[in-house]
Amino acid sequence: MEVELIDHMGSDLSIVNAARVSFAKVHKKFDEKSDTGLINYLAKHNHWSPFGHASMQFHIKAPVFVARQLVKHQVGLTWNEVSRRYVDTEVEFYEPTEWRLAAENKKQGSSEETVKYSISSAHKFAKECYENMLNMGIAPEMARMVLPQSMYTEWYWSGTLYAFARVCNLRCKPDAQKETQNVGWGIDKPARKLFPASWNALRDA
Ligand SMILES: Cc1cc2nc3c(=O)[nH]c(=O)nc-3n(C[C@H](O)[C@H](O)[C@H](O)COP(=O)(O)OP(=O)(O)OC[C@H]3O[C@@H](n4cnc5c(N)ncnc54)[C@H](O)[C@@H]3O)c2cc1C
Repeated sequence: MEVELIDHMGSDLSIVNAARVSFAKVHKKFDEKSDTGLINYLAKHNHWSPFGHASMQFHIKAPVFVARQLVKHQVGLTWNEVSRRYVDTEVEFYEPTEWRLAAENKKQGSSEETVKYSISSAHKFAKECYENMLNMGIAPEMARMVLPQSMYTEWYWSGTLYAFARVCNLRCKPDAQKETQNVGWGIDKPARKLFPASWNALRDA
């Protein structure tokens, strides 16, 4: 799982200034006490729009099953992903060797207990089929059907601070899939550094 911050716009100060425009006021410097108080007030009362003026862009590389979960977050976010209709370069797979056992509570997804298991032969077989089909001249958009959910994909993900906070509030929780949590924490880390007061106010934990 790779999460790289590509770009960002705004700061805690630009967020409070967006809110203060209601009173035609602007601060040149972030005041820890009063500005943090305003940010906490905005977050607590769901005044989300000032948090929409700050944004981040990430480049993320993760398996398809993780991307499939994350793409469900739509509001305030924009997603552009590599397409295997157009790309037929070598396929990379996420290949854990430790496998979490099923949890007693189905909603939990998995338990802490693990077993060792290798799926390298399954990956090898899928890759060989894919490459054989390409060698036969079959279109990449059809040949890709044989590739498993463990295949890595990559995408640019841009969005407002508010939207990414919602992603992290849902996906950094223990009931989210571990691999998806890893992406969530990869977003949480730079966001906390860039927007400390706002991120602290918007995040559940
Ligand atoms: C642990 C976990 C398990 C999940 N399991 C499943 C599953 O089994 N199957 C599945 O399909 N999805 C599943 N999801 C995805 C989930 O249902 C949401 O689609 C996903 O979490 C995105 O939520 P969001 O609030 O960021 O959505 P966004 O689409 O980004 O929406 C943001 C907010 O806008 C509002 N909103 C969005 N669309 C509407 C609308 N049409 N009408 C009114 N208000 C709207 C809502 O308040 C919403 O919270 C799961 C999510 C989690 C965290």
